[in-house]
Amino acid sequence: MSDARQVGELHLVSGGLDRAAERRTDEQWLRSRLQGDGCEVMWVSHGAVAVTEASQPARLLLSAAREVPEGLDSLTFLGLRPDGRAAFAAHAPEPVSELPGGIPQWRTLRELGLRLPAEQAAMAVTAVALDNWRARTRCCPGCGTALRAKDAGWAMHCPAEGIEHFPRTDPAAIVLVRDRSDRALLGRHVNWDAGWMSTIAGFVEAGESVESAVRREVREETGVRIGSDPGHVRYLGSQPWPFPASLMLGYHAWVDPDDPSAADIAVDTAEIAEAGWFSREELYAACEASLVRLPPRLSISRYLIECWYGASLPGDWLRG
Ligand SMILES: [Zn+2]
Repeated sequence: MSDARQVGELHLVSGGLDRAAERRTDEQWLRSRLQGDGCEVMWVSHGAVAVTEASQPARLLLSAAREVPEGLDSLTFLGLRPDGRAAFAAHAPEPVSELPGGIPQWRTLRELGLRLPAEQAAMAVTAVALDNWRARTRCCPGCGTALRAKDAGWAMHCPAEGIEHFPRTDPAAIVLVRDRSDRALLGRHVNWDAGWMSTIAGFVEAGESVESAVRREVREETGVRIGSDPGHVRYLGSQPWPFPASLMLGYHAWVDPDDPSAADIAVDTAEIAEAGWFSREELYAACEASLVRLPPRLSISRYLIECWYGASLPGDWLRG
């Protein structure tokens, strides 16, 4: 069955935000944008973003750049919005109760549940990722000297060694496994409610390819063995997941066709409480009856499942 959805539909992918990396070192251009008409600044603090109180769906609270007291050093240049306006993020040391332009509600991206419009979601996910990194990168990992932000928030400079540190991203593999009957393997994490099911995921280890991580994680967590042919692990798309710094790399993988017991399930009860194979008919019926609840729409796990299924499925973790 062909993939029913496009990677472009995945939330948090870009939202039309042009990151305009070549402008990060152009201080004159950055200052002129900050002083220009219509330039707005979003706010981030301790992994939460400021949203407006009243609007439904949620909207970022955006302050006119001219009203933001901090200088360029404390701002991050996020990129150019679809209408060409520059977008910046201000990093507030603590969540405050009033900001230029309104009363903020501070919400984490998890709390917002991916419900921001795509463009604002792209701004928020970038700002949170950089805020998380900067909060954990105050001193040089090599020599301990206090670091200074540069390149509009995208690098930290060590004055003692004259070197730069850049934001890190931790790759994680997330995979929907398919068996010889083209059933899908779904599992429930030990911390999840009954009925919550999803794809299998885990971090890529040092010195490991993502394809190897896909095979290893599936085997460790469910006992299922993926085929060794390169075609048995297929990349479908990625999604940034800044909690605090992950990049989810999404795959479909197929069980080893040469091993009669490759699809036998033996969950490691440390991470996965239960796992099972679902035909398309079985999964639809289970979702319809709320016996199985899938991850939220716009998450990459949901995307991987619906690419296999060929259409949308009913319900999610929040709604039966
Ligand atoms: Zn240093």
